[in-house]
Amino acid sequence: MVVLLDTTHQSEASALTEAADRKPSLASAGRRRLTEALLSIGVPEKQVRMRVSQLWRWIYVMGVTSFDAMTDVSKDLRRALEAQFTLDRLEIVSEQVSIDGTRKWLLRLPKRVHEAKAPEIECVYIPEEDRGTLCISSQVGCTLTCTFCHTGTQRLVRNLEADEIVGQILLARDRIGDWPGVTPPADGRLLPNTERKITNVVLMGMGEPLYNVDNVRDAMEVTADGEGLSVSKRRITLSTSGIVPEIVRWGRESGTMLAISLHAVHDDLRDVLVPINKKYPLADLLEACRNYPGLSNAKRITFEYVMLKGVNDSLADARALVRLLANIPAKINLIPFNPWPGSEYECSDWETIETFADVVNRAGYASPVRTPRGRDILAACGQLRSESVKLRAQDRRQTSSSSTQMGEA
Ligand code: SF4
Repeated sequence: MVVLLDTTHQSEASALTEAADRKPSLASAGRRRLTEALLSIGVPEKQVRMRVSQLWRWIYVMGVTSFDAMTDVSKDLRRALEAQFTLDRLEIVSEQVSIDGTRKWLLRLPKRVHEAKAPEIECVYIPEEDRGTLCISSQVGCTLTCTFCHTGTQRLVRNLEADEIVGQILLARDRIGDWPGVTPPADGRLLPNTERKITNVVLMGMGEPLYNVDNVRDAMEVTADGEGLSVSKRRITLSTSGIVPEIVRWGRESGTMLAISLHAVHDDLRDVLVPINKKYPLADLLEACRNYPGLSNAKRITFEYVMLKGVNDSLADARALVRLLANIPAKINLIPFNPWPGSEYECSDWETIETFADVVNRAGYASPVRTPRGRDILAACGQLRSESVKLRAQDRRQTSSSSTQMGEA
């Protein structure tokens, strides 16, 4: 494993002194925010649409990080933008590269006034020969406590804003040199041989995306916009632990692909592995899947199933899984469990995984086992976590009064 960048030691001081009145960044803004920004600096209403298109292209097609680079925008407008806004990216705390080319970034979000420390999230890039998948986070921590998942041990700090979700994509494209005219980094030999290096985006990082549905939806609109980042909705997958009332709504409003964090075929075990199952049991979850808009053989739902030794990996489980998903256009992803410090589970033996996969294969599901990636840098599925914590109300009050004092000093 290679650590390319580590700013951990400077983090504390810079996060604590970050000014609340810092210029806002338009780096990952949606069209509505860009419109408001332009109006706020006096751009005439009839010009705004054209100006938004210009900015959009520079930000999302060319990947520029300064208004000065926008050569077809008048100097006056560039100066006015510069005076009020930035194109700052999320801050990188550390970047790690696995021996298999997987990259993990620990990213710092802009600090809010009541936060003692800027919260941090993780984001992972997984290159393969013919595709590059970016796994992004939607929350800092998680309210759910899935027992096999490292993020589940970190309490929810807060939801990510839409631009903080999009910001992960821009940052990753910067780091792997995925903009026109930019040379990939010297260690980028493991990048895919596709023209674009990020071909797929999966909402499988930290957090339950359907508990932050509005921001995630806005972010995916920016991600899929054909005049910008242009990642097809067929190549965007939202993974949920099973927030039943939001599933169909998500499909209707967003049209992305869906993955379900399933992991058990009976309610009693799923209640333990994915405790939200107590609220939305399997029968309700599968009914919502059957009603997912656009569901067809061309748009199948992925069911993720982590292989836990002696817990959910028997032959009877495999057969029950196949029966459970009958009549749902589905893909099955068997995920060898990726251990993390303090986890109570072990990964199933390879032989057991193969026997399980055979049953699934014979039922017509192709290549069901997902190769673990980035294990050496804790970047594999279920291993993400940051140290950010939410302050108690009392601490929050103290922090905001001390940051007000700092600002006044
Ligand atoms: S699997 Fe997803 S929903 Fe469950 S604890 Fe982990 S991040 Fe949260």
